Amino acid sequence: MFRVLVSAATLAVSSFGMAEAQEFNDGSWALVIHGGAGVIERGAMTPEREAEYRAAMAAALERGEAILNANGSALDAIEAVIHGMEDDPLFNSGRGAVFTAAGRNELDASIMDGATLNAGAVAGVTQVRHPISLAREVMDNSRHVMLQGEGAETFAREQGLEIVPPAFFFTERRWAAMERTLISLGLDIPPRPDGAPEPTEIDHGELDRDAREHRFGTVGVVALDRAGNIAAGTSTGGTTAKRWGRVGDSPIIGAGTYANNESCGVSATGTGEFFIRLTVASRICALVEMQGLDLQAASDQVIMDELTAMEGDGGIVALTASGEIAWSFNTPGMYRARLSEGGEPVVAIYGDED
Ligand code: ASP
Repeated sequence: MFRVLVSAATLAVSSFGMAEAQEFNDGSWALVIHGGAGVIERGAMTPEREAEYRAAMAAALERGEAILNANGSALDAIEAVIHGMEDDPLFNSGRGAVFTAAGRNELDASIMDGATLNAGAVAGVTQVRHPISLAREVMDNSRHVMLQGEGAETFAREQGLEIVPPAFFFTERRWAAMERTLISLGLDIPPRPDGAPEPTEIDHGELDRDAREHRFGTVGVVALDRAGNIAAGTSTGGTTAKRWGRVGDSPIIGAGTYANNESCGVSATGTGEFFIRLTVASRICALVEMQGLDLQAASDQVIMDELTAMEGDGGIVALTASGEIAWSFNTPGMYRARLSEGGEPVVAIYGDED
């Protein structure tokens, strides 16, 4: 099967110089991952922390590669990659998620199948270890696209997913970040959650950096499998000290996640309110499908031009059924990684990296 990549020439001059163009895609797989965007600048992170993030992104690529190399589906690759990131406290998804102003971890996730346009999403879950798997169950085993809160958790139990106590998601680093935000907003600090560990010393230098860097830490994956199907998925704890049941873009199909074999797949990270209003993910795919833009140009138009004009911040990763990969972000950095079958893995953090 040969799918012609029309945009190879354009890719060579795309922003960040990241795209190594393929002449065509012959049924090989591709994978692109983000671990959040933000004011991530050289020298602002300790070398140890930076190495941890790079290792985590490389490990995420390996999990996806293992599935796709074994002829697994893009959907299975998404789930496997995100599982590991949800378990990794470095990222704002699953364990390590940020806290709401009420001192809870309320998790959002979504997944979409570009072959069928089926999709599943969950919002505000507090006891499901792997929200991305719950989103997949919603897609595969319910009549609905989006479930939230207690009902979503009842469904998770019915589907036999792993349920954990809310304190499973607790990390001192995120708790301290929430305290800081609440103090700056003049709001009360809630009690520590039941079952949370005893307070431990945290590195205040790192907390300062976290606050300054405004790292989002949401995770997202877009994959193309050997059958030519695209899927996209995103998982997050949302934004620090969010209030009143706030839900961001990550579980909103079309905003934080979108996949369509006819155009592209996208996963987003950033201040969700802007991504919802701009329907970022589906908008990029619409530009590809309806205006014939190549993926990088479509991504840059929406992120660098339109999102920036709204004063929104964040970025996306994306790919097409011909194996074209793009990323675009208007923040100084974004944790990101990509791998095409037979190619070399690329892991990058700062804006000036490939
Ligand atoms: N987009 C997420 C939200 O607004 C946050 C993030 O990307 O870190 O909930």
